[in-house]
Amino acid sequence: MSAIRFATPDGLPAFLARLSENSRILAPAVKPAGKRSVIFEDWHEGMPVILEKATVPPKDAVLPQCETLFTYKKSKNPDNREDVALCLENRAEARPTVIFACRPCDARGFAVLDRPYLKGPFADPYYKAKRANLTVITITCASGCNTCFCHWVGGGPSSPEGSDILMTEIDGGFVLQSMTEAGEKLLESAGLDDGREVFAKAEAARKTAWASLASAPAIKTAPQCIAALFDNEQFWQEHTEACLSCGACTYFCPTCYCFNITDEGDAFDEKGGRRLRSWDNCMSSLFTREASGHNPRTQKALRMRNRIAHKFSTYPENWGAFSCNGCGRCISGCPVCLDIRAVVLNAIAAAASEA
Ligand code: SF4
Ligand code: SF4
Repeated sequence: MSAIRFATPDGLPAFLARLSENSRILAPAVKPAGKRSVIFEDWHEGMPVILEKATVPPKDAVLPQCETLFTYKKSKNPDNREDVALCLENRAEARPTVIFACRPCDARGFAVLDRPYLKGPFADPYYKAKRANLTVITITCASGCNTCFCHWVGGGPSSPEGSDILMTEIDGGFVLQSMTEAGEKLLESAGLDDGREVFAKAEAARKTAWASLASAPAIKTAPQCIAALFDNEQFWQEHTEACLSCGACTYFCPTCYCFNITDEGDAFDEKGGRRLRSWDNCMSSLFTREASGHNPRTQKALRMRNRIAHKFSTYPENWGAFSCNGCGRCISGCPVCLDIRAVVLNAIAAAASEA
């Protein structure tokens, strides 16, 4: 039996204040700049929260844009200069974090990241530490928007995957329903009113949101169709002509998880050095450049092919689900409005006509 609570809009700051006693809270806030955006920021008392879908997903709660994996320092034995010891300090640490007002697509993004980072032959200790300390409170969407397509790829406006708590707006406030044990524990100590009496209203709001979506095309065959088109260079050239190789589509994506590793500093220096992991992206021409100078993906069409094929063909082959959650940010954030939905639908049509 899940825990169900109710909060009024005026009661949300007190709820967040209570959560912040034991955790860092990441909540969406307006970032005034040349172009208005909404980003997840560390919440503190008095910080206004905006319940909009964020411009940038909260992925860096588990996969920071840049993180120190470990530090290192060499020390020489003064009596024997040949005797050099290398001291490593592991930084796989995390503090309890609550993401407040995540969106269902972004919560599903964590499920996409969990598979390669936790369920492969080796679990990534840095990701694992952060994920184990993460609680996700997701606000269900009241309707779709013209760029999102979560229901094409197995999600929806109230999909619970990746969320610990689902929060739904009704008249006069929000119903919060736990989806996991962690969510239940959080709600039981949250000091909120019982929400069982108004839960039916939340269910009705969720149904209305689902009903507002345009019907989804069948894309189950996308993995095979894209695999069949892999060597059709003309198809990939045509679908990449407008691309500027800026990489925005990958930086805004809640499910892209490629990274680069760099070392900074000097092990023999007094301060030592550190190994960093930073986001990288397959749309960049340097991403696949090898130490020899050889680059297997010099053309942008080959890089686009890699990005689409990974999300809609190879990842599903390995993990049984698309690695795109349909958030639509790569469409809304692309300076040339390149639409991933069109590429996938055209690939399905092209594979069918080739067959
Ligand atoms: S955001 Fe658009 S232009 Fe930039 S790399 Fe992605 S597809 Fe190309
Ligand atoms: S590929 Fe585009 S639509 Fe899919 S999850 Fe990434 S940003 Fe969202």
